[in-house]
Amino acid sequence: MKKVIIVGAGIAGMAAGIYALQSGFEVMLFEQHTIPGGNCTSWKRKGYLFEGGMHWLTGSDKQQPLRRLWEETGALTKDTKIHNRDPFITYVHNGQNVCLYRDLVKLQEHLCSISPEDSTLIRRLCRDVKTFAAMSMPIMNIPGLKVKTKEKGPSMLGMLLKMLPALLRMNHFAKQSIGEYVKQFKHPAIRSLLTHIAGEDYASTALMFTLACLSSGDGGYVEGGSLKMATNMANYFKQLGGTVQYGLPVEKITIEGGKATGVMVAGTYHTADDVIVASDTRSAIDQLFDQPLQEPWAENMRSNTGLANCTFISIGVEADLSHLPEAIIFSLDKTIDFAGKQINTISVNNYASYQGYAPQGGTALTLILDGNYEYWKTSKENGSYEQRKQELIDQIIARLEEKIPAITGKLAVWDVATPLTYERYCGTYHGSWMTLMPPGFKQISYPSKSKNIDHLYFAGQRLQPPGGMPVALSTGRQAAQYLCKDNDVVFRNKM
Ligand SMILES: Cc1cc2nc3c(=O)[nH]c(=O)nc-3n(C[C@H](O)[C@H](O)[C@H](O)COP(=O)(O)OP(=O)(O)OC[C@H]3O[C@@H](n4cnc5c(N)ncnc54)[C@H](O)[C@@H]3O)c2cc1C
Repeated sequence: MKKVIIVGAGIAGMAAGIYALQSGFEVMLFEQHTIPGGNCTSWKRKGYLFEGGMHWLTGSDKQQPLRRLWEETGALTKDTKIHNRDPFITYVHNGQNVCLYRDLVKLQEHLCSISPEDSTLIRRLCRDVKTFAAMSMPIMNIPGLKVKTKEKGPSMLGMLLKMLPALLRMNHFAKQSIGEYVKQFKHPAIRSLLTHIAGEDYASTALMFTLACLSSGDGGYVEGGSLKMATNMANYFKQLGGTVQYGLPVEKITIEGGKATGVMVAGTYHTADDVIVASDTRSAIDQLFDQPLQEPWAENMRSNTGLANCTFISIGVEADLSHLPEAIIFSLDKTIDFAGKQINTISVNNYASYQGYAPQGGTALTLILDGNYEYWKTSKENGSYEQRKQELIDQIIARLEEKIPAITGKLAVWDVATPLTYERYCGTYHGSWMTLMPPGFKQISYPSKSKNIDHLYFAGQRLQPPGGMPVALSTGRQAAQYLCKDNDVVFRNKM
């Protein structure tokens, strides 16, 4: 039996490992952290559970082709409960709730009633979203792969015809940022609502794809959250006979005679027939080889990786906020001063109605702010890191108390995770968990295997746009498919 070593037990590494095990390989996984999941994680503090990774999952809907892959890898079962938050976001604006509903008819009516002068644009937006909803991530096998079960599904031509209207609109959205796109709307609440979905620096295609995903009934939240889902995969991996070693970072991948032969871990050499790198590819190409990897695609990645990262705030309050929407945007009367910028709106995830996320009568809240890697790095270097966190949380609590008086004096716990936290716990490049797609961005996909080094494969969110958990999953599967093809093994996917 051929032995495969995988670097990293995030979604990509576990998916690659599960498919490799199903196809008959012996698999050993090394994970630097003490738990599986990487960025797909949640954590508990004083009885409050903070969701730190998955906010909405592409492929959660049973109609989506990707759902099958989540089930094949044990992340979800047929019976897993999915919560489709609706409205997806609510902007509390001058005492009025402006809602992002999933249903496009309802959304159009609602937004037109809020801002009749934006009616033409709102109708156009809803039409475009409907067009984009015809697109879904195709699940294909790599060419020349021996498979046990052939992929069933629409032909390439059929898919292209279905997607043609969206493809024709793609360029229009790809060349403008969300910030530029939303400027056309006259109503500030609609502008803010749409900006908070993906972030103003992203190309507006990200907004369209997200709204399309939500409107088609996909993009739900998996009951139990990120860590539960990652643990499901880790358990399935072990059940299939895989071995995981936690708390052990891979230091180097050994290359001999143009072939990957194993890894160095804690000074010990572990041999393998094949190695799959499923830690952040952007970090790995610089850190995991004797010399930074010099292949054209790796150079391309070095120069084209825009970094999406965040400052993640978690707050536990001894107050039941189940009367409030699950995701709320507040515009602030007094701004928050953070990293030289003035923040005038905040978006709060409210987990009050989620079972087990807080002690009785309490609520777990989370907020995502810009990453500002350099700001936090400098703070760390000059010794002001903890003080900066405290200053930030003090301002956030003060603004939240103004908006939600019920939480005044009810703070139970808080936590600020910076890009340095993600860098430390997940080994991601500058703490970035996705690649930013600015306007005009070329949709670059990177290969799943090395061009120059045999038996070396890659998987992870960084390899294909738009990134995130679905790409981690599908590239993990793809790495396992190349592994099978190169070893002349039949690729198997047990359900
Ligand atoms: C706040 C936040 C919100 C998000 N929201 C969503 C969302 O709503 N939907 C969505 O789809 N995605 C979301 N994401 C992004 C998503 O979580 C990630 O893109 C995805 O989980 C990446 O998976 P991965 O397996 O490619 O990489 P990672 O999660 O980075 O996993 C890599 C693993 O490799 C390990 N590792 C690194 N270096 C080494 C080494 N040298 N040796 C051994 N192990 C190593 C790491 O510890 C980690 O476990 C969010 C992320 C964050 C942080």
